[in-house]
Amino acid sequence: MAESNVRKAAPAARTAAVKPGKPESRLAMVRRARKINRELAELYPYAHPELDFENPFELLVATVLSAQTTDLRVNQTTPVLFAKYPTPEDMAAAEPEVLEEIIRPTGFFRAKARSLLGLSAALRDNFGGEVPGRLEDLVTLPGVGRKTANVVLGNAFGVPGITVDTHFGRLARRFGWTAEEDPEKVEAAVAGIFPKSEWTMLSHRVVFHGRRVCHSRKPACGACPIAALCPSYGEGETDPEKAAKLLKYELGGQPGQRLRPPAGYPGQAAAALGAGAAAGANGDGELG
Ligand code: SF4
Repeated sequence: MAESNVRKAAPAARTAAVKPGKPESRLAMVRRARKINRELAELYPYAHPELDFENPFELLVATVLSAQTTDLRVNQTTPVLFAKYPTPEDMAAAEPEVLEEIIRPTGFFRAKARSLLGLSAALRDNFGGEVPGRLEDLVTLPGVGRKTANVVLGNAFGVPGITVDTHFGRLARRFGWTAEEDPEKVEAAVAGIFPKSEWTMLSHRVVFHGRRVCHSRKPACGACPIAALCPSYGEGETDPEKAAKLLKYELGGQPGQRLRPPAGYPGQAAAALGAGAAAGANGDGELG
């Protein structure tokens, strides 16, 4: 699987799709953007959220914990956390020091513990112990911003949403979809290019590509299957052999981030914390 995907990434892939130096019309950009989405769908038919979760509460907690760390590190931390505090009521009643100690591996553990205690109490007191399925309710929870709310809505409630994290923002700019830096402006720009029905899966595909191929510091342009459609081709390594060595996760023959990946994931599951896996290591210290 990984190999055939990489083989598709011939350097040759430069064609007339992007003409350097020539201004591109809005229509041509939208067509090219939608083609990128289709190609990413072929490349990552198994794209999915890379946080392990069983229900909306677990996804909400895992997403809050994922700030400034890797999904792998969160996935290695949450099994103990969810076993001890399976419901908002349980978590709201946690001893802060005990909670902090459990989530310590995810970093910023004091602030994150405060958010988890606050949002659990708010779920218990204001929402009957259930995670609400509306953006305007979710963003009232402590530690929950628009990005976290969109992740929860898209993946636990099936509400279409664009999740602009560091990977999505970087790739949207490299693809020439927008020049905006502000995540909300990126979200609005991308929402104007794609139909709503595509938003959630588009988000997963773009983030998958950012984590595996189009890295922040060393994009693997020479091994990138969508090079022909990318105006930023050449920002990274263009030598096919050197670029292939930069590929990560299943494309690089390495474990993924989920301890319990969904059916259809072609790579290996991540190892539990302390099981010998290099937690959070994905080659160049980039947030996974
Ligand atoms: S910058 Fe390079 S790696 Fe990223 S999408 Fe464009 S061609 Fe691919």
